Amino acid sequence: MIPAFSYRYACVRCAAPQPWGEIRYRCPVCGQNLRIQRQIDADSPSAADIVSTFQGRGQWRYGALLPVEARWASRLVVGDTPLVDCGEHGGVRLWVKDEARNPSGSLKDRATDVVLAVARRAGCRHAVTASTGNAGASLACIAASHGMPATVVVPASTPLAKLAQIRAYGAKVCEVDGSYDDAFEIAERLADDVSVCCRNTGINPFTREGKKTCAFEIAEALDWRVPDWVIVPTGDGNMLSGIAAGFLDLHALGITTAVPRLLAAQADTSDSITRDWRAGDEAMALPASPTLVNPDTVADSLSVGRPRDHFAALHALRATRGACVALSDARIMAASRDLAQRFGLWFEPSTAAGYAALEEGLATECIRPRSRVVLLGTGSGLKSPQCFDSVVPGHLRDYVDAVPRRMPDAPGYGPSEAQP
Ligand SMILES: *Cc1c(COP(=O)(O)O)cnc(C)c1O
Ligand SMILES: [Zn+2]
Repeated sequence: MIPAFSYRYACVRCAAPQPWGEIRYRCPVCGQNLRIQRQIDADSPSAADIVSTFQGRGQWRYGALLPVEARWASRLVVGDTPLVDCGEHGGVRLWVKDEARNPSGSLKDRATDVVLAVARRAGCRHAVTASTGNAGASLACIAASHGMPATVVVPASTPLAKLAQIRAYGAKVCEVDGSYDDAFEIAERLADDVSVCCRNTGINPFTREGKKTCAFEIAEALDWRVPDWVIVPTGDGNMLSGIAAGFLDLHALGITTAVPRLLAAQADTSDSITRDWRAGDEAMALPASPTLVNPDTVADSLSVGRPRDHFAALHALRATRGACVALSDARIMAASRDLAQRFGLWFEPSTAAGYAALEEGLATECIRPRSRVVLLGTGSGLKSPQCFDSVVPGHLRDYVDAVPRRMPDAPGYGPSEAQP
């Protein structure tokens, strides 16, 4: 056993440090999100010593690198998901990290598991989150395993399968007649009490800590030789900043010798981070507040008008020499079928956006031949069955099967209502 590291909070933007102790949600100086900083000094354990502590199942295997003790975790097994080897594909070596195997079927469980462990340690008695679906399903699931009541605030557009999941685990569902942005603010107000833990993406700094373990597992599965690229479906940008933070941690601790480049995949109507990355790149500065967009995409998990971990996401792209791609719904749905029918991997449309981003990256030579690429399979296809609610058999298949609801203009497709 190695001695635990010590931690503190620091603002993702102005870097102002905040003392460790209670759960903190925002920088009191500038209002931006906080991140968690590990103190590394001359007495810190060596890379080999740290790696020797990686034992047991699930993400608590990396307990030495988590800011809360495993004894506060739920009994569910979160993480430990397969890195599926898809072989040579389009001139690159491709792996898919199958995060659908988590307890509630998405990568969000890694974050929720750490968030609720911290909440239990802090004595919280209730948990709240805003969600486009998966964060809520994840909170409902893991809170249930702790016997902790949970409330989930969702926009009216939330897919039925995800709502059903949240209800099945017994969480209270608060459906707002508005957007995810509206839900976000309501959840934050509901949590204005120290006995309530707010899991809202971005403002809870512990979600990123949980998402780091996905990076740890990828690196370990590849014998600590990190891939050239990791493709991250991106809405709020917290997954992107969490995965980057995980790889940067390994590098800072001397466990790996390189950091992979991150390719953020967005939907083209929910492309705030892509726009700001391009603008910031030209201006050599990161914009302080996000460009607001009006999302309307089949990839419901990526549908955000105002990304909630915007600054940290842009920083993650800069720190990993990353890139951004925004894809149309037509390409996302074509990619979804390809991924399912070529590899037997059926994920949500958000993951399909990542697969479409790979094709785009290859076409533009942003991703070079023979690269080693990992695509994050962020959530199960069973969570968004509405995308495949119209299936036409036989010879029409190539033209009209699997018609998504909201893409009447795409070539080769028609609106689902028009199907026989
Ligand atoms: C939340 C989520 C994402 C995007 O993560 P952000 O932190 O919002 O960028 C992608 N795919 C799935 C399945 C998700 O649940
Ligand atoms: Zn600040």
